[in-house]
Amino acid sequence: MLKVGITGGIGSGKTTICRIFETLGIPVYYADERAKWLMLHDEALVDGVKQLFGEEAYTKEGLLNRPFIAQIVFNDQAKLNQLNQLVHPAVHRDGQTWHDAQKDVAYTLNEAALMVESGGYHKMDQLITVFAPKEIRINRVMARDQVERAAVEARISKQLPEEEKLKVAHHIIYNDGEHSLIQQVHQIHQVLVERKKLIEEIASS
Ligand code: ATP
Repeated sequence: MLKVGITGGIGSGKTTICRIFETLGIPVYYADERAKWLMLHDEALVDGVKQLFGEEAYTKEGLLNRPFIAQIVFNDQAKLNQLNQLVHPAVHRDGQTWHDAQKDVAYTLNEAALMVESGGYHKMDQLITVFAPKEIRINRVMARDQVERAAVEARISKQLPEEEKLKVAHHIIYNDGEHSLIQQVHQIHQVLVERKKLIEEIASS
């Protein structure tokens, strides 16, 4: 099985596109969602977070105290790096276990917003970058999350510029409302299935 990463800036349409891949039978690991789950349920990770931020990092009910952590890492880049150094390996291990458990598919998809920023794309066999113009992304996220323009722009400013994500992509999906998503997904799917077949043929010859 090939491991295919899918990334793109906020609101570029990663999740929407992953849903299309799912209709083709491709399993998708939603790394950002899973990271949130692991921060509550992976014991080693929970311990690490408590060591880094103190017991206050979790509420009495065992939920993550997001405002408390956010306020610390907002002003402390070193703490943010340390947090990432705890979370990224945990998500990578979990994603690898998930990938290994998938059966009878040519490839799996791993969706993560910051895959290029974190360097996680190096662990993928192939990378798909979803591209949508900034103005379209802003409007889509404002509508989806019911937030102000400034809030979306602030989130965009924390991500790498789109061109950096495009530079390292093996496949690009244009989600600008003009190119058909279904057609692009089908084309990439075909290429990946053929590639997997060829690799298997060569390996068994
Ligand atoms: P995030 O990085 O915030 O998780 P994302 O890249 O996963 O975002 P989506 O949630 O898939 O992006 O899309 C953002 C919003 O734009 C959603 O409300 C989605 O329904 C809408 N959207 C995505 N693609 C299109 C499209 N081609 N036409 C219309 N709306 C779209």
